[in-house]
Amino acid sequence: MLEITDLHVRYGRKAVLHGVSLTVAKGEIVTLIGSNGAGKTTLLKTISGLLQPASGDIRLEGQSIAAQAPHKIIESGIVHVPEGRLLFPDMSVREHLDLGAIRARPDAPPIADRLNEVFELFPILAERQAQKGGSLSGGQQQMLAFARAMMAAPRFLMLDEPTLGLAPVMIDQLSDAITKLHRSGITLLIVEQRVDLALALADRGYVMQTGSVVMTGDAKTLLADPGIKAAFLGI
Ligand code: ATP
Repeated sequence: MLEITDLHVRYGRKAVLHGVSLTVAKGEIVTLIGSNGAGKTTLLKTISGLLQPASGDIRLEGQSIAAQAPHKIIESGIVHVPEGRLLFPDMSVREHLDLGAIRARPDAPPIADRLNEVFELFPILAERQAQKGGSLSGGQQQMLAFARAMMAAPRFLMLDEPTLGLAPVMIDQLSDAITKLHRSGITLLIVEQRVDLALALADRGYVMQTGSVVMTGDAKTLLADPGIKAAFLGI
């Protein structure tokens, strides 16, 4: 579904991604792991059009999207839930969801259907429609960030550090939500510091280090790898 080939990205003169290649097949959950500064967020931002690659290609179902504007990329079905959620503290839950619907892909189901689906997935958001984003708990804010992304009817959803700062009980709920999104037919690319959790959810993973992919494999193999255990799982 998504194919990235020899991607180079720089911030000004600083090269940050040095020839990254990866693929995500339709229906897969793929995780990107790597220590701080490895370039994971940069890769997601480049896929969603917020950064332009210096060279290399990004193809969605065979069509290059590497030079497209972010709103065009959302309309093609790639939606990004950024690190830190980026909610508007004074806007209500419902207003966030309406905002998410603005840039939906042209063949998206009707807004009312999407809203019903989101409320089925996150009933707490239906109850709190009028509440301001800033007054939700951390876990509810992360759910709202997912829900806002769902309103754009993604086919390919990218999650950047979804569990950051959440209590264990909320992490369990979010894992359930990710599993449900996947079952509903969405392909996912997830950046997650909790490597055990990421590899438990994912089919495959890529390990990044200082701007390059240094290892890839199916999730079970990566989970059993002594190098991964030592570097990321504290074993
Ligand atoms: P983290 O888990 O800390 O977010 P990451 O793997 O997502 O790490 P990136 O945020 O993509 O890594 O950062 C990759 C490199 O690019 C780092 O060296 C970082 O300092 C640098 N970098 C990130 N954003 C910018 C920016 N706006 N300007 C210059 N350098 C940046």
